[in-house]
Amino acid sequence: MGLAFGSTIGILGGGQLARMLAMAAAKLGYRTVIFDPDANATAAQVANEHVIATYTDEAALAVFAKQCDIVTYEFENVPVAAAKFINALTPVRPGPQALEAAQDRLREKKFLNEAGIETAAFAVVNSAADLEAALASFEGNGVLKTRRMGYDGKGQQVFKNADPVKTDDIYAQFNAVPLILEGFVSFEREISVIAARGLNGAVAVFDPAENVHREGILYTSTVPAKASADTLAQAHRAAKAILEALEYVGVIGVEFFVMANGGLIANEIAPRVHNSGHWTEAACAISQFEQHIRAVAGLPLGNPARHSDCVMENLIGDEIDRMAELCAEAQVVVHHYGKTEVRAGRKMGHFTQLTKLSS
Ligand code: AMP
Repeated sequence: MGLAFGSTIGILGGGQLARMLAMAAAKLGYRTVIFDPDANATAAQVANEHVIATYTDEAALAVFAKQCDIVTYEFENVPVAAAKFINALTPVRPGPQALEAAQDRLREKKFLNEAGIETAAFAVVNSAADLEAALASFEGNGVLKTRRMGYDGKGQQVFKNADPVKTDDIYAQFNAVPLILEGFVSFEREISVIAARGLNGAVAVFDPAENVHREGILYTSTVPAKASADTLAQAHRAAKAILEALEYVGVIGVEFFVMANGGLIANEIAPRVHNSGHWTEAACAISQFEQHIRAVAGLPLGNPARHSDCVMENLIGDEIDRMAELCAEAQVVVHHYGKTEVRAGRKMGHFTQLTKLSS
C-alpha cells in the first residue's frame, strides 16, 4: 500500500518548508528532488537532488517530472501552468485546483463562501474609482490587498475611517495590479488549523494553534488556543469541509479570525504545510511534515493528537543567534533552517517550548 519505499518525491520550492518535508520523506524511506531556481536553496542541503531552473522552463520541468514518482509543493505561488504541466507526466498532490483556489484572494473568498465558510466582506478593486467606492461602502475601514503573491502581510494597506486618502496615489503605489479591499475585521485573536486528507479520503486535524504576528510575520503559535470548545470544533469542521470540497490530498493550513462571540471568519488557506504547524514536530508523534508525506505517498495518516502543550516561536533574522542558548533549555525543540545568509525579516529557524498537556 502506498508509494514503494525508495521511490522519489519531487518538491517544487526549496525553502525551509521543503527542507522539513525532505527530512520527513527521508525518515519514511523516500528520496527527494528539489526544484528551485536558487542554487543555494536550503532544502537542497538535505535532499537527494536539486533541479536549478525557473518554473517556466518546460524542458527542466519535464526532466524533473521524469525523475519523480509523485510531486508536491511547498508554496502556493507555484505557477498553476507548471503544476499542470508536471501533472500530465507525474501526479501532483495536492492537485493544481488547490493552487488555483489559494493563489487569488478573490477566488479564495468565493470558494470559501461557496463551501459555507464565512470570510471578511470584500470588494474587487481594479481602479482608483473602485477603491474610492469600496472604501465608502466599508465606511472608510478596510485592508487593501494584492489579489496575488501577497505573504507575511506584504502588499497590504490598512485604512482607518479617520484618515483621508488619495485613492489615485494609493492605486498607483500598488502598481495598478488587481486588488481586493476587505472589510476590517475586529477580531479577538487569530487561530489556524493544520489538517490533512489522505489519498483514501481519510481526514486528520491537528489541534488549532493561536497565532501572534509581529510586523506582519508569524511570531508565536500556542497550543491549545484560547477559544471555546465550540469555536475549536467549528475550525475543525471548516478545515474538513475545505479538504473535501477540493478533493485535497496532503496537508493544508487554514487561518481564522476569532470574533468576540466565538464565531470564526476564515482569512486564508495555504495549500501546504504551514509555519503555524511547526509545533507539531515537537508536540505530536507525527509532525505536519510527515503527515503531508504520508498523505501524498498514499500511506495511512498518523494520529494528530498532541502529547504536550507548547509554544512555537520563530527565529527571525539575527534571533537565530539564540540557537546555542536555546539548546540548553529543558523541553525545548530547536530547528535551524541552514540558511547561510542572515537577513532582517528572514525566517532562520524556530523553537518549540513543550509544557505538560493541559486537556
Ligand atoms: P494575510 O496576509 O491576509 O494573512 O494578513 C496578514 C495579517 O494582517 C493577518 O494575520 C491579520 O493580523 C491582519 N489582517 C489581514 N486581513 C485583515 C482584515 N480583513 N481585518 C483585520 N486584520 C486583517
